[in-house]
Amino acid sequence: MRTFDLVVIGAGPGGYEAALDAAGRYGMRTALVEQRELGGTCLNRGCIPTKTLLHAASVLDGLRHAGEYGVEADAVHLRSDVLQSRKNQVVEQLRGGIAMLLKQKKVQVFQGSGSILDAHTVAVQTGEEVTKLDTERILIATGSVPVRPPIPGITLPGVMSSDQLLDRSEQPFDHLTIIGGGVIGVEFASVYLSMGSRVTILEALPRLISNMDRELSQSLKMLLKKRGADIHTDARVLGLESGSDGRLVCRYLEKEQEQTLETDGVLVCVGRRPCTEGLFGEGFTVEMERGRIVTDADGCTSVPGVYAIGDVTGGIMLAHAATAAGRNAVASMNRVPGPCFAQAVPACIYTEPEIASVGLTLDEAKAQGMDAESRKILTTANGKSVLSGQERGMIKVVYDRESRKILGAQLMCARASDLVSEFTQAMVSGLTVDEMARTIRPHPTFSEAITDAVRL
Ligand code: FAD
Ligand code: NAD
Repeated sequence: MRTFDLVVIGAGPGGYEAALDAAGRYGMRTALVEQRELGGTCLNRGCIPTKTLLHAASVLDGLRHAGEYGVEADAVHLRSDVLQSRKNQVVEQLRGGIAMLLKQKKVQVFQGSGSILDAHTVAVQTGEEVTKLDTERILIATGSVPVRPPIPGITLPGVMSSDQLLDRSEQPFDHLTIIGGGVIGVEFASVYLSMGSRVTILEALPRLISNMDRELSQSLKMLLKKRGADIHTDARVLGLESGSDGRLVCRYLEKEQEQTLETDGVLVCVGRRPCTEGLFGEGFTVEMERGRIVTDADGCTSVPGVYAIGDVTGGIMLAHAATAAGRNAVASMNRVPGPCFAQAVPACIYTEPEIASVGLTLDEAKAQGMDAESRKILTTANGKSVLSGQERGMIKVVYDRESRKILGAQLMCARASDLVSEFTQAMVSGLTVDEMARTIRPHPTFSEAITDAVRL
């Protein structure tokens, strides 16, 4: 008999949740190999630290506008060092929770980098020491790392990835330039604008967050501009150079014209790529496609017994998608149907107001030949939105004209990241707009706007 039923490589939200399910639900003898900290990108360099900063930004904004509610809050200012300690404390608390759960479920954790020697052997290197783990199955959950584009000057001091920017405890930059107007770019823009920085976004494509509904992109651009952001789309960065007084000079091309700007810091966030460095020992590999590991819907790779899930498989690079894929893969190893419905993965952007999307946009549904309709409502008449002083928001619901089943939804409003779960649940359960409209939602709440959206 082999020592382990399963060795998981990578302890992000994909890997550690899969390990917990494997050991806790299915009684598999499970090992988890991690070369850095438990929790992966999401906990240590992603979701949790960024949302801790966004929460602080929202507290700051709230205090700045407190006077409108008759609350006097004078001398509001940011202590970056305190915020940095709080962020670290939040991360450590959650990391401790994961360690405790793994111990409870008897998952054996190996600290070191994992390398697959063959379909049944993982070598764990810790310093000079190598431990070989003998296992029935292997689950690769090694996540992703930031893309570093070949821009001249990318290694200059002050040019950072999100990993480095998150570790800064100095006061915010006077002026931050963000290369890439995707999810990371707009969330950091939102944080830094609230913290009083001037922010410039340089995006290569014609619009921000280009994988989202067009109207959401346009509204976000308008809102960020209203908050003072300088946004350049169709802008190609040519190079970065050292300027005077420790500043940086950024040269970029916009509408065929070369432009320059001076800035104090540059955040480069032009996407992430699957992490497979050192993962395969000599003579062993699985099928790959442009850097990502190819799998089927159960997470099986081209090598029997070797599975992969999460960011390393490309596709939707989100924490909850990785967790769901991990749970489904472990279920499949045990010949049990996957517990998670992978066809409706919500995606959220935690700007102010929040953006959330699930399923198809109207354009996507039509492009797939569906007879789809959409209905949009504004949240201007929603009592909770008005009393809490929210920006103008909207909810768009996409449904099949004949069956009236929900095909998707796009939201930009307060608590959009929570509200989107109602539409996700509707898609999982195959509900129609009329079935969603039967639910009585409490008053006054943001969720009442959903009733307005689905009462056709
Ligand atoms: P990861 O979390 O990347 O974990 C992989 C782990 O594997 C890492 O700990 C790594 O050290 C380890 N590893 C790699 N190679 C080896 C090896 N050979 N041996 C041992 N260990 C190895 N997603 C959301 O859903 N919501 C958000 O709000 C959100 N915000 C984000 C903000 C930022 C700034 C970033 C960068 C990402 C954000 N994401 C968010 C994306 C999310 O973090 C990822 O989708 C998620 O972490 C992927 O999980 P994973 O388990 O596949 O991989
Ligand atoms: P992204 O793919 O969302 O956006 C990258 C942007 O950079 C794109 O708009 C792209 O057109 C642009 N770009 C590419 N090359 C460029 C160049 N040379 N100059 C200017 N612009 C350029 O990637 P990201 O923002 O780095 O985020 C990575 C992943 O992390 C996301 O795909 C997402 O899955 C995850 N994430 C999720 C959340 C969330 O769920 N709230 C938050 C942050 C990150």
